Amino acid sequence: MLKGSSPLIFERSTEDRFAYSLPDLEVEKHELSDIIDTKFIRRTKAELPEISELDLMRHYTELSNKNHGVDSGFYPLGSCTMKYNPKINEKVARMPGFANSHPEQNDKAIQGSLEIVHDMQEHLKEITGMDEITLQPAAGAQGEWTALMMIKAFHEANGDHNRTKVIVPDSAHGTNPASAVVAGFEAVTVKSNERGLVDIDHLKTLVGDDTAAIMLTNPNTLGLFEEDILEIRDIVHEAGGKLYYDGANLNAIMAKVRPGDMGFDAVHLNLHKTFTGPHGGGGPGSGPIGVKAELAKFLPKPLVVKEGDSYRVEHNVPDSIGRVKPFYGNFGIFLRAYTYIRTMGPDGLKEVSENAVLNANYMMRRLEGTFELPYKQHCKHEFVISGSRQKKMGVRTLDMAKRLLDFGYHPPTIYFPLNVEECMMVEPTETESKETLDGFVDTLIHISKEAEEDPDIVLEAPHTTVIGRLDETQAARKPVLRFQREDIIEEKE
Ligand SMILES: *Cc1c(COP(=O)(O)O)cnc(C)c1O
Repeated sequence: MLKGSSPLIFERSTEDRFAYSLPDLEVEKHELSDIIDTKFIRRTKAELPEISELDLMRHYTELSNKNHGVDSGFYPLGSCTMKYNPKINEKVARMPGFANSHPEQNDKAIQGSLEIVHDMQEHLKEITGMDEITLQPAAGAQGEWTALMMIKAFHEANGDHNRTKVIVPDSAHGTNPASAVVAGFEAVTVKSNERGLVDIDHLKTLVGDDTAAIMLTNPNTLGLFEEDILEIRDIVHEAGGKLYYDGANLNAIMAKVRPGDMGFDAVHLNLHKTFTGPHGGGGPGSGPIGVKAELAKFLPKPLVVKEGDSYRVEHNVPDSIGRVKPFYGNFGIFLRAYTYIRTMGPDGLKEVSENAVLNANYMMRRLEGTFELPYKQHCKHEFVISGSRQKKMGVRTLDMAKRLLDFGYHPPTIYFPLNVEECMMVEPTETESKETLDGFVDTLIHISKEAEEDPDIVLEAPHTTVIGRLDETQAARKPVLRFQREDIIEEKE
């Protein structure tokens, strides 16, 4: 057993103890072998923990308490938009009419669910300025790949077979070049200039008749607005390429400006980020994509269409790139995002972005005296600071991130984007109070002071968590992801 931690559920196990009680059978009892072919029957007992109902409850409650989520504390993970997940969303997603419906049901029996899908598409068209939407992709990364496959189909349909390159900035999220490569393109890097924006002169040297697309997020992953977006649009369009918008940073600009109006041809959104779907820990996501009319015929099928007053699932889409996810995508996440959009309304969504930007600028200005600020202009919904001053005192950004855990904060994103040394990327979101923002800023300033006066306390952090510092190389190369029963048997012997 780990020191200071509670027993594992396997260690609590006692033979023949149960977490359930059922009434006696009222029907004749069959031998398993009467109903299942013997070759499918287990020969040894399953090695499952046997435990009482109360101990089972405690086991799961303890596990949940060890987790850090938005509901337990501040979570300023840049690029991830860890905002509050309103509980009314959960209530709607659990309504029996939605929760118990099945995607194989006849269209006529699920008109309400199809209406939600269709309505959601209409809302997202309005928010993004795109002509058509599909909700199918399961996450942002899958949305990127889906849209790139459509852009590929578009070029191929035009007999344009040499467009093999996708341009991505050096500050891009790792999924961008990865999606480009998985979609069969070569990813080409465009440099950032001294203001953290796309270097236009460098871009001009990269575009040509082999350019399939450029992938950008605006504001970019440094939290900075690409002021030259219209010039970038012209450069790429004149070369025959398409503009792809990574919508992970939409929380900065919702209802203020639209990717469609900036000249983008395709976008993905992360419903689990901007639109309050719960995320982290690998839960279901949703990465709808939107496209301009000339790409629309390549959308994944099936499509949900409205005819008169009713809704229909259209499977006959001749130029579609095919299906990218079973049925319509992660419906439960649409319900949550739909509830959020309807609760906020257009004015509410605008206020969300304004407050997200205000909160980020407030924190950035409070921190700039203590930490190096690589880009001085106002930020949008997130900002990047560098721990390069603290590094000179022997304390790295990683150490400060670990120390934050002792104060109950989830650390910001660190060492990303790759083009800023010792960076920390902070995204507060609009849902946090001024007191929370101040608390976090004060703590970071305090940690910087510790780095100066008592560096060991930072270098040895965290001090309050169940597990201290892991050997990150070993953890990455030889991860132990599964409980090994032998460990316990050995220990008991
Ligand atoms: C989160 C994120 C992605 C990927 O989205 P997933 O939904 O996690 O697949 C892409 N780009 C940026 C900038 C992101 O922050």
